Amino acid sequence: MSVPLLQAFQVGRYIAGRKLRGVKRYPLVLMLEPLFQCNLACAGCGKIDHPKEILQKRMSVADALRAVDECGAPMVSIPGGEPLIHKDMPQLVAGIVARRKFVYLCTNAILLPKHIDEYRPSPYLTFSIHLDGNRQRHDESVCQEGVFDKAVAAIRLARAKGFRVTVNCTLFSGEDPDHVAEFFDEAMALGIEGITVSPGYSYQHAPRQDVFLGRNQSKRLFREIFKRGRSKRSASRGSAGRWSFNHSGLFLDFLAGNQAYQCTPWSTPTYNLFGWQRPCYLLTDEGYASSFRSLMEDTDWGRYGVGRNPACDNCMAHCGFEGTAVDDAFTHPLKALKSAIRGPRIAGPMAPDLPITYREHVRHSVTAAAVPEVILTRRESGLRQPRELQ
Ligand code: SF4
Ligand code: SF4
Repeated sequence: MSVPLLQAFQVGRYIAGRKLRGVKRYPLVLMLEPLFQCNLACAGCGKIDHPKEILQKRMSVADALRAVDECGAPMVSIPGGEPLIHKDMPQLVAGIVARRKFVYLCTNAILLPKHIDEYRPSPYLTFSIHLDGNRQRHDESVCQEGVFDKAVAAIRLARAKGFRVTVNCTLFSGEDPDHVAEFFDEAMALGIEGITVSPGYSYQHAPRQDVFLGRNQSKRLFREIFKRGRSKRSASRGSAGRWSFNHSGLFLDFLAGNQAYQCTPWSTPTYNLFGWQRPCYLLTDEGYASSFRSLMEDTDWGRYGVGRNPACDNCMAHCGFEGTAVDDAFTHPLKALKSAIRGPRIAGPMAPDLPITYREHVRHSVTAAAVPEVILTRRESGLRQPRELQ
C-alpha cells in the first residue's frame, strides 16, 4: 500500500468507528462526477455516451459539496468526463480539502499544465493521472497520438510543484504482461506515489466492445504481471514486487484470483448530474436515488455482484471490490498482514468463483418491481442516445 500515514490513519479511524458501531454498509470513496464532457473519446469509455445538452451540463460547487457532506466518505474521487474542463473545479477541490477529505482528481492530464497553478499542494489532494500503458498502448487506448507524452510531462510538472500524483491504469484485452511490467517500472520512475489498476469494465455503451477482458483472463494476466514484479524483488518497493499500488494487499490478491470476494458497491457510491446512481459507478442503466440515504436504504443490493447479475460477470473493478478487501482486512487483520508481507499468491489453484444465481433473479425481476424510488432510468428519460462528439 502506498498511501501516506496521515491518510491511512484517518481512513482507518473512520472504518474502525463504523465497525465498532456495527454499521454493515458504509461508504469509503465517493465517486463524484460533476460533468460528463471530455476532451478525449477513448475506446473503452462508458461515460461520454450522452447527448450534447448533457455533455455541456456542469454540477454546481454547492451541489457537489452538499453530496460530499451527505455521503460522509473520507475519500472523494472526481472522475468525469474530464474534471479540468469544469471551470469551478479549483473551488470544488478547495472545498473538499477544507473538509479534510482526501481528493483524487482523475484527469487525462492534457489540461493540467494550463490549470495546475489554480491548485495548491496538500496532503489531501492527489492528481490521479490516466495512463493505460506505455506510449503505444496508451495512445491506442485513448485513440489519439501524443497523449502519453503530454501525460508524462504533466506528471513531472505536478511532482516538481510538490503535488501527490498517482497513475490510474486500466487493462484491456491483448495486454502483454512483460509490457505492463515495464510500464509499471516506467511509471514508478516518474516519482509517483503509486499505481491504481483494474481490468476495464465491459461498458455496454463503450465505443468498442472487443477491448475488454473476461474474469479468468484478468486473473491470469494479473498473476503473470505480479510474477514479473516478484522476479526482481531484491529491488522491491511494494507488496507485489518493485511497484507501489494504491490498493490494499488483499485487493491485489483478489486480482490474482485468490479471493472469492463479493462486490460491495455501496463502498463507492456515485453522485453525478442525474443524482445518486444505483447501484455503482459502472452500471448506468439501473436508475437514480434522490438522496444518499435512499441509495443506501432502498437499493436492492442483492440484485448486484458476482453471480447475481449478468452485467457483473466480468467485473473486478476496484470500485466494487476494494471496499470488500478493506472490510475483510479489518475483520481478519492477520490474513491482511500476511498478504501485505508476502504479496499476492501467483501460483497454485485459484479460489472458485461465486455460484451463478441470476437466472432466479431475472425470473423474479420480471414479476416484481425490484427497485423502489427509481426516479427515471436514463433510457426512460430519453437521455441514452448515440454518442455525439464535442
Ligand atoms: S479520458 Fe476518461 S472520461 Fe475521457 S474519454 Fe477517456 S476514459 Fe472517458
Ligand atoms: S460487480 Fe459491483 S461494481 Fe461491478 S458492475 Fe456489478 S455492482 Fe457494479
